[in-house]
Amino acid sequence: MSFTLSGFSIPSANTGAAKHVKVLVLGSGPAGLAAALYAARADLEPVVLTGMELGGQAALTHTIENYPGFPEGVGGQELGELFQKQAERFGAKVEFDTAQGVDLSQRPYKVTSDNGAYLADTLIIATGARPNHLEIPGEYELTGKGVSYCATCDGWFFKEKKVVVVGGGDSALEEGLFLTRFASSVTIIHRRDSLRAGKVLQNRAFSDPKVKFVWNSVVKEVVGAEKVTAVKLRDTVTGQETLLETDGVFIFIGHTPNTQMFQGQIEMDALGYITANHLMETSLPGVFVAGEVADSHFRQVITSAGMGAAAGIQATHFLEKEATSA
Ligand SMILES: Cc1cc2nc3c(=O)[nH]c(=O)nc-3n(C[C@H](O)[C@H](O)[C@H](O)COP(=O)(O)OP(=O)(O)OC[C@H]3O[C@@H](n4cnc5c(N)ncnc54)[C@H](O)[C@@H]3O)c2cc1C
Repeated sequence: MSFTLSGFSIPSANTGAAKHVKVLVLGSGPAGLAAALYAARADLEPVVLTGMELGGQAALTHTIENYPGFPEGVGGQELGELFQKQAERFGAKVEFDTAQGVDLSQRPYKVTSDNGAYLADTLIIATGARPNHLEIPGEYELTGKGVSYCATCDGWFFKEKKVVVVGGGDSALEEGLFLTRFASSVTIIHRRDSLRAGKVLQNRAFSDPKVKFVWNSVVKEVVGAEKVTAVKLRDTVTGQETLLETDGVFIFIGHTPNTQMFQGQIEMDALGYITANHLMETSLPGVFVAGEVADSHFRQVITSAGMGAAAGIQATHFLEKEATSA
């Protein structure tokens, strides 16, 4: 039996003994669903555990305008639904369930979830990442209404508008400079009096006439009703509070990969991203990775889906090779 939530088809809870599957995909974002599509087309009947965010981060955004094949753009949620339908058409099973623990010490790999347990011959980890939030009033309420975590995705909507960028690292400057293509002004708000970003980026930012800096300041509140109209700033030296008018707030204070569950069991980099080679192979045989959980650089639907396809293909090769050498 299944029920439907906003177009996504959600199967009922899985109960009982650990279920043995050939391919278990963790995550229902672009990476996970693309991996499931490829594994399904190889007749491997993959099972996808969706996690709490059906369709992943992409489903949180109103319109995606840079995914090829949709010249007029496509709703973020709609694209997730299409990914899911396509994978299911070839036999993928999408379970509304969240993995809570993994045992990667031996194959088949054991995954325990809210609704049961799985034994997986191959595992595709596509649990994504989340942009760090400021956790201030107005931030969540105005996300998609002027608050954004992705300049490549949303910059276009700010043609000839004033925007602020929060952060002082490489991504804040890179994304801030990217925004100068659209915005009339880009004000970078940084809590210190110097930047962490690389020197070359700093020089480019300092010499760009559209880029301004507000030093020693933190954003205390995003202000606006239907859309962003201003940010409330607090000077970290004087404590003085001021209001800065703006149309957009771009927050670049880092990302956190969803990898806590795997810590100590698989190789990761210093920031907690799972490391993989170009074949999406991890440090463990039969464990593949795809999307933002392994990618702190591109962070796009198309790149994540591409990595998912690669992981699905490689899981297929892995099982074929194992079957022929048995
Ligand atoms: C507001 C916003 C707007 C964006 N706009 C665009 C855009 O216009 N164009 C573009 O190309 N990109 C855009 N992006 C970026 C894009 O959404 C991501 O790059 C893409 O979704 C990453 O895909 P992913 O599958 O790797 O991970 P995610 O989309 O992060 O998906 C991760 C999945 O893993 C699941 N999960 C997590 N933990 C568990 C667990 N324990 N068990 C099971 N499942 C789990 C989650 O529920 C989710 O389904 C935007 C991002 C945001 C936040």
